[in-house]
Amino acid sequence: MTDLHQLAVMLKQLDDQMVTCMKCGMCQAVCPVFRETLREADVTRGKIALLENLAHEMVADAAGVKEKLNKCLLCGSCQANCPSGVRIIDIFLNARIIVNTYMGLPAAKKVIFKGMLTKPGLFNGLLSMGQKFQGIFTSPADELLGSSCSKIMSPLIGDRHFLPLAKKPFRKMVSTVDTCAGKSGLKVAFFPGCVIDKMLPRVGVAVLEVLMHHNVGIFLPSGQACCGIPAISSGDGESFAKLVELNVKAFAKGDYDYLVTACGTCTATIKEIWPKFLDRFPSDIQSQVRQMADKAMDINQFLVDKVGIDTQPAATGGTRVTYHDSCHLKKSLGVTDQPRTLLKANPACNFVEMNEADQCCGNGGTFNLHHYDVSKKIGDRKRENILASGADVVTAGCPACMMQLTDVLSRHGDRIRVQHPVEIYAQGLN
Ligand code: SF4
Ligand code: SF4
Repeated sequence: MTDLHQLAVMLKQLDDQMVTCMKCGMCQAVCPVFRETLREADVTRGKIALLENLAHEMVADAAGVKEKLNKCLLCGSCQANCPSGVRIIDIFLNARIIVNTYMGLPAAKKVIFKGMLTKPGLFNGLLSMGQKFQGIFTSPADELLGSSCSKIMSPLIGDRHFLPLAKKPFRKMVSTVDTCAGKSGLKVAFFPGCVIDKMLPRVGVAVLEVLMHHNVGIFLPSGQACCGIPAISSGDGESFAKLVELNVKAFAKGDYDYLVTACGTCTATIKEIWPKFLDRFPSDIQSQVRQMADKAMDINQFLVDKVGIDTQPAATGGTRVTYHDSCHLKKSLGVTDQPRTLLKANPACNFVEMNEADQCCGNGGTFNLHHYDVSKKIGDRKRENILASGADVVTAGCPACMMQLTDVLSRHGDRIRVQHPVEIYAQGLN
């Protein structure tokens, strides 16, 4: 039963957040979805117009409102370029919560978020079972990229080329770590996040290798959960709060200077989104949520700004490596130079810049699931820029982007590897 009072309060708060929008339309110029669809409803100004009348619109056609709201990558390009400083991502997340409070969460998402994601033990167990049987439904697509595809499941997943679940998740390779700060005098907590744990454990291994090489103390506790972005971006504020609480509990056992992740989306969620929803957490953990948010830092940024890693003269004829700016890293966190510095710190890496490096790759989490046609078009533009750079390897600091880049390159049979900058740096240490 919808709590009408709660809804009214949330609608009022949303109205207050939107007053600074002056309808200038400058968000149109930077929105990757609008660029493909040319529909005003798909860009921020159109969505804000819809939200200004949200109560009425929901009564008239709640499903239609939801569909329009979900047609957004949450890439933050509009927010980063808005002259009025409208907090667009906060508005969209709050609006999604309101719509779901009104309509209820779809059954499948209820099962995934409330039944699985918020129970990490069960979630890990189910995926580990899924890993054993995934070969029945999928087949390898590209050995170089490590991708798979599936004809049997095409009604559900289309012609996607995806990263399969790893044989051994990162957290099964390395369960817990707690080492002292070495010569660096620094100690970090490491938050691997779901995609690195389940699909790209090699990135987690590279992070540990690099931290150990630089004598940085590491705290990797058990009991970690998802950062909460899939839940909050689907409007499930309750599961989001539960996931944050699980993480606060897991990390409360350690003493560390920074909380590092190798996932731009996890870092942006912890640093930017957790503190925005403080009133959703019990008062006794709010200060810990804030503390974790303050300490959250992208691994590239940590290694360059705190450890002091710098560029090295590149050897001639090294591997040509380019870099894609993940939206959450650049537009939410302002991390742009550090991943490039890290790549150039490996003398065997011949860094080449690609055109439109900071244009969204089109993943957008659930956007890719619901609007794969648009997601593919945005991804294809990124692919053209990667090819034009002449790179042998494309890197990104967010595993979600790595998944999207793998898909676009693998579907076209391109012989270009997808890696994380920290992997390239780690290779230079050997
Ligand atoms: S959200 Fe910002 S850029 Fe977009 S119309 Fe409003 S003020 Fe202009
Ligand atoms: S967050 Fe990205 S996709 Fe969504 S409206 Fe803004 S620019 Fe467009």
